[in-house]
Amino acid sequence: MIRIKKMSKRIFLNMFIISSVVIALTTILTVVIVYKSFSNQNIAALKGELTATSSGVELNGVAFLKSLSVKHRITLVDSSGKVLFDNRNDINSLGNHNDREEIREARENGTGYSERYSDTLSRKTINVTKLLNNGDVLRLSKDMSTVWSTLMDTIFPMICVMVFAILIAAYMAGRVSKAVTTPINQIDLNEPDREKIYDEIEPLIDKIIKQNNQIDKQIEQLNMEHEKQDNLRRDFTANVSHELKTPLTSISGFAEIIQNGMVKEEDITRFAGKIHSEAQRLIILVGDIIKLSQLDGKDIAVKMEPIDLYETSQAVMGHLEAAAEKRNIKMFLSGKHLVITGAEQIIEEMIFNLIDNAIKYNKTGGKIYVNILKNDDGINLSVEDTGIGIKDEDIGRIFERFYRADKSHSKEIGGTGLGLSIVKHGANFHNAKVFVKSKYKEGTKITILF
Ligand code: ADP
Repeated sequence: MIRIKKMSKRIFLNMFIISSVVIALTTILTVVIVYKSFSNQNIAALKGELTATSSGVELNGVAFLKSLSVKHRITLVDSSGKVLFDNRNDINSLGNHNDREEIREARENGTGYSERYSDTLSRKTINVTKLLNNGDVLRLSKDMSTVWSTLMDTIFPMICVMVFAILIAAYMAGRVSKAVTTPINQIDLNEPDREKIYDEIEPLIDKIIKQNNQIDKQIEQLNMEHEKQDNLRRDFTANVSHELKTPLTSISGFAEIIQNGMVKEEDITRFAGKIHSEAQRLIILVGDIIKLSQLDGKDIAVKMEPIDLYETSQAVMGHLEAAAEKRNIKMFLSGKHLVITGAEQIIEEMIFNLIDNAIKYNKTGGKIYVNILKNDDGINLSVEDTGIGIKDEDIGRIFERFYRADKSHSKEIGGTGLGLSIVKHGANFHNAKVFVKSKYKEGTKITILF
């Protein structure tokens, strides 16, 4: 509502200024043109009268002038400048007239003309003169209003017209602003109707419709995303329960047999070992789940610090050396001491999982190459092995939680199926990308690009 008022005010002001300027200019111009033509007519008429009067004076002298009854002032001046006749003033009170402009002009040219303004500029006198045969000069003078006073006279009607213009402008401003704003205010933002608007706001309607469509699409996408997240969460919970249940069932089974006295004394150590390894598996699994949920939450308070990828890889390889040696696998580290800013514990975990996989999924006597280099895309850390490789159809899925490509061997190899998920989430946490290149039965190369 306030906007409409503001708009009316603006439209009103514009209309008022335009109409006032137009009215004032037209009035002034009309007055000047009419005045000019009126003034020219007056001068021409006075000159006509002068010619007629001068003929009379040539014939009958001053007596002719005395016999005349005219509205204008008539003056007769002799060649010395002395006034011989004046129908308005006593000739004895008048001084020498030879200094008058129009008299001098008549002596030089035969006729003369001059204008003299009153002090207030509100009136002026026009004088026309003619040189008679005997050397006298006859002058006719007439008073008339000036352009200025004529303009002053028109000021009142002009103000009246302006007031009228203000009223019309106010009325029109109200109507125009209403016609402009009402359809805009009535637009239903959810379902804009093209029928109810005028051409100028069609682009606005188009934009609203386009934006509505975009919002609908985004809502749809968000819903889909939510559904996907829900499904993932459900799958994850089901998987976690299953993964936890398997070792727990074994532990419970072994413990039960021991408890029932069904195990011979000498086998107890073997069974306790089994319980221990299953419990160990559980600990690793729970550890991985905790790490993943921390990375998922993204709100883990970690210290970001400079990390030398070469040194970290070297340390991780040291930890995994025994496991590699067990399978007679050789590890090689190459590249440069490149430094990134990151969370050390997460980076260590990511490198550990990659090298751990390269050992687990390698062939006995295989090789592992860890390389750190920098190229146009950024800093790369790659772990390459000469292992069993991954089938093309599995490559897209290995980052899923609990996904294992080679299900038949997964039990003996160990692992939780969460290692690469942790790598991927860790990479996301560091705004890094993970690339996989693998050839089935030949080997795999996984690269993290920071
Ligand atoms: P896991 O704990 O089973 O190793 P990961 O998430 O680390 O879980 O890996 C998922 C699956 O991807 C593995 O089960 C394995 O089938 C496959 N995989 C991972 N790394 C390699 C590799 N270097 N070579 C071959 N297969 C691999």
